[in-house]
Formats: sequence, C-alpha cells, structure tokens
Amino acid sequence: MTEKQKVRKTEEEWRALLTPEQFHIMREKGTEGAFTGALVDNHDDGIYRCAACNSPLFTSDKKFDSGSGWPSFWLPVSADAIEAHEDNAHGMRRIEVTCATCGAHLGHVFPDGPRPTGMRYCINSASLAFDKDAKQ
Ligand SMILES: [Zn+2]
Repeated sequence: MTEKQKVRKTEEEWRALLTPEQFHIMREKGTEGAFTGALVDNHDDGIYRCAACNSPLFTSDKKFDSGSGWPSFWLPVSADAIEAHEDNAHGMRRIEVTCATCGAHLGHVFPDGPRPTGMRYCINSASLAFDKDAKQ
C-alpha cells in the first residue's frame, strides 16, 4: 500500500481558505444543525468532494435518506478516501470520520445504515463540495 499524498496546511492557511462555518466544522470538529445543511436533500447525480482539499469522498449513488438531518452515505468512494478515529467527546463513544487527504473533520459513522454495508456515514454538508454530473 502506497502512502497517499497528504495536503498539509497551517490552521491560519485553512482559516483563510474556508468559510468561518467550514473552519469550525472541518478544523475544530464542529457540527452543523440538523436539517440546516445545503446537501441534506440533494438528490442530483454527482460526486461529493472534500470542501477543503477537493478529494472525492462519496458518490450520489451511495447516498440515502436517513432522516437524521445530515447527508448520509452507506459507502465512501474508496476505502482510503476517509479515515476513522475513535471519538469519546461529549460523553459518547462514536467513530469520527476525517478526510484521508487533508485530515478535515467530516462527521461520524454509525453501524445502523442500510444494506449491504450496514454503515451510515453521517456527514456535515459544510464539509462537502458537490460536483454535479461528475463522472464517478
Ligand atoms: Zn480533504
């Protein structure tokens, strides 16, 4: 397995690149309010990229309506596109999901998704840039 090229920037560089909301969510592990994100009800075909580094993360054919209020996917675009980390913040044991390329916080993954994976990647809209009609 080859080491992926990583995008590394200082916090000040990220702050200049991202909106204040994106910086809070992607660099400070914030969470947007349920049903407030721009991509919750997006059903167009395309690719969901990392809003910080533009790496492909998810595709529209793996998106589903979870009812959670956040964009939800049952599989990432590839196994090495994202990284999972144990997250014990807020008194909960959860699995945090980050972009493998730049380390941005994306959301969490829960084991209550649909078949065939049974996984629910619960991702902040603010962490995603939607690339409509992009070839997968
Ligand atoms: Zn990224």
